[in-house]
Amino acid sequence: MEIGCSVIVPMFNEEEVIEHTYHRLKQVMDCAEEGYEIIFVNDGSRDRTAQMVEAICHKDPNVKLIQFSRNFGHQVAISAGMDYASGRCVVIIDADLQDPPELILEMLSKWREGYEVVYGKRIKRKGESVFKKTTALLFYRLLGRMTKVDIPLDTGDFRLIDRKVCDVLKSLKEKNRFVRGLVGWAGFRQTSVEYVRDERFAGVTKYPLRKMISFALDGITSFSHKPLKMASYIGVILSLSSFIYLFVVLFQKWFELGTVPGWASIVAINLFFNGIVLMLLGVMGEYIGRIYDESKDRPLYIVRETTGFQREDANPPARPSYVPEGVNAQVGEYAG
Ligand code: UDP
Ligand code: MG
Repeated sequence: MEIGCSVIVPMFNEEEVIEHTYHRLKQVMDCAEEGYEIIFVNDGSRDRTAQMVEAICHKDPNVKLIQFSRNFGHQVAISAGMDYASGRCVVIIDADLQDPPELILEMLSKWREGYEVVYGKRIKRKGESVFKKTTALLFYRLLGRMTKVDIPLDTGDFRLIDRKVCDVLKSLKEKNRFVRGLVGWAGFRQTSVEYVRDERFAGVTKYPLRKMISFALDGITSFSHKPLKMASYIGVILSLSSFIYLFVVLFQKWFELGTVPGWASIVAINLFFNGIVLMLLGVMGEYIGRIYDESKDRPLYIVRETTGFQREDANPPARPSYVPEGVNAQVGEYAG
């Protein structure tokens, strides 16, 4: 049967949930009236995730597995899934069942109505810390203000995209990927379905603060130049105010109003300005680092092994990515 829908599931150390996720996804997809494939992407897990999914692959021909050579990150895992997907539409869903698989059916019906992007909009988030919820809330609003690209508020990567959109995303070669922004940038007819984001089924979050910050920086730097402009705004404000202050100083001197030896204020001003200069250098550094990443032109990810793909349905990745020779051929045998 022709593959109507490819479901992409990125996984990083998800041994506690993955069996359950598979069963729930299968249940849903069996009702979808579409041929389907489930592509699990193992993003360098150090636990038994990969072995468990491999075992599933051998039993279920609809299940496929891509294994990275190490942890490349959630956004890269999703991108790899898209490279390998052959469905007429693609659904991205987290492995931890925070996004209810049942919603895929609703997304599919919107897609059949003619929408090319159907994103899940979280109207409520259960079981997540106040810190996570507040930072997410602030981040999406800040990003919305900083960029002209229409990135819908409070959506994650849980969404359905049409083959056309998937092909556009595959053609984008940038390394610091912020997939939900790229989907917004691509345009097309978009709509949303609302859902309540559940608690993680088991296990702990794989997005510690460090990853959250780098993800947020990727989002902002990929879609906005405003932080760079900040340097000039702050520069103008500071030079204007120092110019005014110059008059105050001259005024005091001419009318001998007593120039107090102000060691403390000089130190304070010095620290303040140095702080601003360093901060702005840091902002520039964020952008320059990303330009550097792009110019090295290394592959986005390295595939160690794939399971379940037949040679003809493993699309050759559009962007440079490293897949060892013979991986698909070897895998064709598994698929039998
Ligand atoms: N994930 C991944 N690579 C990583 C971190 C996370 O593939 O480096 C996967 C993870 O297995 C899960 C999804 O990305 O399927 C979302 O991660 P998580 O649920 O830990 O994030 P949260 O929901 O807490 O933001
Ligand atoms: Mg989660």
